[in-house]
Amino acid sequence: MNTFDDLRTPVAFLRSQSPHITHLSELEAEQQWWKRDGLAISESVDRAGTPWVRMFDRLGKRVDEILYSPDYWTMLKKGYRAGVVWRAFEEKSLLPTYEFMHTISFYDPGVCCPYTVSLGTAVPLAKYGSPQLQSRFLPQLLRKDDAVWQGATWMTEIEGGSDLGAGVKTIARPAGEACLLTGEKYFTSNAGAELAVVAARPEGGPAGVRGVALFLVPHYRQDGTLNYFIRRLKDKVATRSVPTGEVELKESEGYLLGSAEAGIYLVLEVLNLSRVANSVVAVALAQRAIADALTYAECRRAFGKRILDHPLLRHQFEQRRKGLADSFALAWEAVRLLNEVWMEKAPYSERYHLFRLVAHLAKYWTAEYAVDTAKWAMEVHGGLGTLAEFGVERWLREAMILAIWEGTSHRQVLDGLEVMERKHAHKLLFRELAGIAPAHELRDLEADLAQHLALPLDEKEAAAETMFRRLALFVAKHLATRNQARFSTPPASPRALSS
Ligand SMILES: Cc1cc2nc3c(=O)[nH]c(=O)nc-3n(C[C@H](O)[C@H](O)[C@H](O)COP(=O)(O)OP(=O)(O)OC[C@H]3O[C@@H](n4cnc5c(N)ncnc54)[C@H](O)[C@@H]3O)c2cc1C
Repeated sequence: MNTFDDLRTPVAFLRSQSPHITHLSELEAEQQWWKRDGLAISESVDRAGTPWVRMFDRLGKRVDEILYSPDYWTMLKKGYRAGVVWRAFEEKSLLPTYEFMHTISFYDPGVCCPYTVSLGTAVPLAKYGSPQLQSRFLPQLLRKDDAVWQGATWMTEIEGGSDLGAGVKTIARPAGEACLLTGEKYFTSNAGAELAVVAARPEGGPAGVRGVALFLVPHYRQDGTLNYFIRRLKDKVATRSVPTGEVELKESEGYLLGSAEAGIYLVLEVLNLSRVANSVVAVALAQRAIADALTYAECRRAFGKRILDHPLLRHQFEQRRKGLADSFALAWEAVRLLNEVWMEKAPYSERYHLFRLVAHLAKYWTAEYAVDTAKWAMEVHGGLGTLAEFGVERWLREAMILAIWEGTSHRQVLDGLEVMERKHAHKLLFRELAGIAPAHELRDLEADLAQHLALPLDEKEAAAETMFRRLALFVAKHLATRNQARFSTPPASPRALSS
């Protein structure tokens, strides 16, 4: 076996990086299905481009149905049945969810978006929904068969997604048990979902983020008519295996989750789930890009030998492999911490603030790494890399979206700074790293970070990315070293256990 063999399949890589896979045989079955059937479906969905919305049925009734091929539904429902959402609740752990996401997104990064937003709907419903709402909707989202309901998480409006305090204009007016929501959501992934969580402003509430609350909005009203309307689907460069639309809410029935005052915390909790998913998907995508580059470099010859055997390229493969292990370690630290805190409600623990910092570092760095690696994998293919039929250009298109949605890289850097300033999360992080990273390196970084945080606001923000990138790389590198040490430690012998 050469040193790159574990890069060729998602499950082999998961096993090489983590000794504790929760559902090995199920993941292997999933991988088999993707190799046999899923790959071809995914390629055809990507090549076919944006599906159509059929707005009216034959009798002129408004239906807003998305016209995907039956194969698409087979691919999508496969993951739900395998347990990408229901296992989180049944097993009270997010580890299976994210392990499935790594496996699936190696083949199709976009299809993990519906799973992520369905989880992002089920979790706030389970945490904050009234018993009536839970019994009406939760079992549908957790079904194990093809009748499973899908969720969606719609916050962004045309005025902008980064500044939700200014951007959310949708208004919620009380109407008995429910509220009536009116407004337009400009980016709505998984349009057509049976249920969505939607950010809106309760009428008469404060301006800014404090006035934003989270509502549960079903596809159909109590009387069976459409509750929201799909205006059109976006013609996107990638993530074509999730329909992203534009949705109009017209006095749509919505149910407040939690309290209006705590709404922005609920929005951030939804984003926690999707930012961690994004990090896991970005790592799997980078793995896939390296795997494709490897396959190509083993066949293509130049100057009398395989291009893989030229020292410059071999060295680059080794560097990519190391970078991948570091990115994996960072993403999965975010998974592990989220798994500890995902059921917390405000006021949050110290571990929650530590999680938030690690999640910002992971979302930022893994997406940047995926974009860079996808670009490099195209270069390894030379001119052929630019041709759609070779498939590798898709990874760059997909990676670009990972760096933007769920909050751009800029947002991760600035939110990361905020959690360090307000909650001193970096101090908790350095405490975690003590004993893993050399003490003098930790001291130097902590001192530089403290100096950075003390800068005047404009200067601090202007230079933030350099500092944040350094922190992300440092944390990723040392977590990866720790993981490798744990992985290579043999299990204690019976004698050692008894002594
Ligand atoms: C394919 C796709 C699907 C999506 N699906 C959904 C969905 O289902 N639900 C949903 O709610 N949203 C969705 N989005 C929206 C996504 O979350 C936003 O695009 C993203 O958060 C950025 O918002 P924006 O596009 O409005 O950019 P803007 O907020 O207008 O930002 C423009 C640029 O300015 C930068 N910027 C903003 N503020 C600052 C600052 N203070 N300092 C420095 N730079 C700054 C941003 O980083 C960005 O580079 C989707 C987006 C895409 C591309």
